[in-house]
Amino acid sequence: MHAVLPERIDPARLADKGARLQGRVALESMERLVPLLAGEPGEAEVEMAFAVDERGLRTVHGRVRAEVLLTCQRCLQPVATQVDGEFHLAVVASPTEERRLPEGLEPLDCGEGPVPVAQLVEDEILLGLPLVPSHPDSGCSRETARWKDQADAATDNPFSVLKDWQDKRRQE
Ligand SMILES: [Zn+2]
Repeated sequence: MHAVLPERIDPARLADKGARLQGRVALESMERLVPLLAGEPGEAEVEMAFAVDERGLRTVHGRVRAEVLLTCQRCLQPVATQVDGEFHLAVVASPTEERRLPEGLEPLDCGEGPVPVAQLVEDEILLGLPLVPSHPDSGCSRETARWKDQADAATDNPFSVLKDWQDKRRQE
């Protein structure tokens, strides 16, 4: 039931067929996500339903679930973070088509042929990550590491890159 998904998919063709895909995707190949992880990359569980809607748009409605280990920004220890997000995409082949998309659908650019599944899933995971991951108050060993907060405030936080990217993505 939870098969490994194909590496690349052709969303337009799958939409024409009304296909459904469900399976696992390894996180280890995700170049933007892996540097944020504080432990083994693991896998994401993905469901995708492809369809042609009443407007003639080829759509992909899906859900991504994963547990990732991030670094608590208070105590700098690993913190398990659940990602569980839905996505609603429409296949576009050009910026013109992208601008015409109705509200509620994000563009899935297929202008360059088959889409790497890992990249699609990575985008959705990155959008679902907290910008400042931390343990709940009761589970955090912040007291023992308070000095590190100050030391780290001056250095680049990897999550600041994530925030820039999320802002950009949401403006599109
Ligand atoms: Zn903590």
